[in-house]
Amino acid sequence: ARIYEVIRKSECLNAFITLRKQEDVEKELRSVVERASRGDNLPLAGVLVAVKDNIVTKGLRTTCASRMLEEFIPPYNATVVERLVRAGAVILGKTNMDEFAMGSTSELSAYGPVGNPWCPSRVPGGSSGGSAVAAAIGAGGVALGSDTGGSIRLPAAWSGVYGLKPTYGLVSRYGLVAYADSLEQIGPLARHPRDIAMVMEVIAGFDERDSTTLRIGGWRELPSRPVRPRIAILRDLLEHPGVDERVAKVVEKMVYRLSESLGWDIGEVKLGSEILDLALPAYYVIAMSEASSNLARYTGILYGPPGRKIVDNVPWTRWFSEVRKLFGWEVKRRIFMGAFALSAGYRDALYEKALIIRRRVKDAVLRVLKNWDAVVLPSCVSPPPRKGEAIGDPLRMYALDLANVIANLAGVPALAVPAGTVDGLPVGAQLISQPLNDRLLVELAIEIE
Ligand code: GLN
Repeated sequence: ARIYEVIRKSECLNAFITLRKQEDVEKELRSVVERASRGDNLPLAGVLVAVKDNIVTKGLRTTCASRMLEEFIPPYNATVVERLVRAGAVILGKTNMDEFAMGSTSELSAYGPVGNPWCPSRVPGGSSGGSAVAAAIGAGGVALGSDTGGSIRLPAAWSGVYGLKPTYGLVSRYGLVAYADSLEQIGPLARHPRDIAMVMEVIAGFDERDSTTLRIGGWRELPSRPVRPRIAILRDLLEHPGVDERVAKVVEKMVYRLSESLGWDIGEVKLGSEILDLALPAYYVIAMSEASSNLARYTGILYGPPGRKIVDNVPWTRWFSEVRKLFGWEVKRRIFMGAFALSAGYRDALYEKALIIRRRVKDAVLRVLKNWDAVVLPSCVSPPPRKGEAIGDPLRMYALDLANVIANLAGVPALAVPAGTVDGLPVGAQLISQPLNDRLLVELAIEIE
């Protein structure tokens, strides 16, 4: 009841697209608690989870914040949802986001923009903005988001919470509505890093339904933190013209605080300005290419609105164009650009070149991570913009992802942690590390907190 009260009070933030009925949630909570008291093994008994609306939930509407899926009721649970529910967690509802996870501010939703929990006239970051808000206001112990190019970490930074983009392949994507498969991972957002670990213990590990998952039994198999961690600042990103100096200062201060108060070894590394400048365009070419292919399924036949809702007895071509009108403008832009990047005559100049750059970024990132337990960089390039400020110009919006896409291109784990404030607004740092060091990162964050 208390949590529903909190959600009602924060209604103006528009964090949920679908909230489950209070009586249903309470009933399920009672039954879980009873089972736990009978001795059933339910490590998450009674934990409420807010789930991003691009992760399918059996019998619970999943819209991807799109008109296209307004009436979509999935017949099955995503693996992560299944594992959480089996561990005793209760799904609270589905959170608002940018349509099909394409965006950085959570304004591009067919169900209206999300507000920042610290200052509602500003954006909370995206695309998992609703999940970040749910975690920040305490609506549910934890939230699930997805991160293709920063969508967990940017909203975590701007909402003042923790958010983990796991190593690629550590968490099953079965039941995550695909945007750009080769880049994205599902991960948790929470107010405390311990809660991030609690969720990862349940959702991480091999899933036979997702052939890209790694043969890892679970979270406990992953390396633990060393006694005296060695961390390095990513110097050239902090000095990059795309990063607000005030944010860079907050991140740097945080790192030096760690060395003073915890005695950690601190150093500095550089990726090279060429790598930093190439990462963002390569990311967008790859993400849009994969998106144009993934979104081809919305034809109104298997997915999309039932054909009868469009028009009866119309030729296929017209039907198709009527159905596709239901996408928002940013989604359409990406389908066009992605189809262009993949088309004959342009493919080698755009898509294939982007893959070559991706390889170079990955090699450079792994090289930099080699001698350190973690490398620290900002998880946002500026404080949260006002609503409407960033979405007018797509290039400006894409530039918000500068610090975040690196980890996705390289497939490495990245944990966003609150770092301080600029003008009273939250900004974040992130710790990145070698593949499968996810647990190590969360343990470092537990000590930082
Ligand atoms: N803002 C980036 C994009 O629009 C990242 C989105 C995401 O991580 N889902 O592609």
